[in-house]
Amino acid sequence: MSAESKIRERIVAIGRSLYTRGLSPGSSGNISARLEEGWLLTPTNSSLGELDPASLSKLDWNGNLVSGAKPSKEYFLHLAMYQKRLQSGAIVHLHSSYAAAISCLDGLNPASCIPPITPYFVMRVGKLPLIPYFRPGDKSLANEIAKHAEKHAAVLLANHGPVVSGNDLDSAMHAIEELEETSKLMLLLHNQKIRTLDKSQIQELCETFGVQWET
Ligand SMILES: [Zn+2]
Repeated sequence: MSAESKIRERIVAIGRSLYTRGLSPGSSGNISARLEEGWLLTPTNSSLGELDPASLSKLDWNGNLVSGAKPSKEYFLHLAMYQKRLQSGAIVHLHSSYAAAISCLDGLNPASCIPPITPYFVMRVGKLPLIPYFRPGDKSLANEIAKHAEKHAAVLLANHGPVVSGNDLDSAMHAIEELEETSKLMLLLHNQKIRTLDKSQIQELCETFGVQWET
């Protein structure tokens, strides 16, 4: 099996896994992966639970369709992130309930929507900036993502949901799941006094695991 065929199969398997666990209701959410030439994305109006490896959309770096079905309307979110993050091999975007709920809260810190409450959030997701609200399809969103993508592997779109990149498909999936679980913790902890990790604990994670989190 070619490297591209393996990536196609993995996108389908990850889509099914996310869908089965209720993380991508309806036709929401999209998954992409970088190829040697161009990139793959899940098609528009497709359920992540029923993807077909042969009909995934293949695009070039200008966002043009090369082969396959019409791409997700949110293709430009992925493109903006890949162009600023050459190290990222895959991106997952979801409208998953808990992260989407956090994205609707008023008064979030736009530089860091979720405080460092667990080491795994710091290690797998990192500091999460908030991208202001834009209507679906508004390409201005791409410029806002581009502003943060160099320094941040993950961003949260206001009143919408998370966009998370990783070195490969599995690390992007694990990171967005960590973000979803941390969002759930934040909501469970709502109105409670939270002890976040302190500066020296974050510093230790940065030194031990090579993560980036400016304190
Ligand atoms: Zn979306």
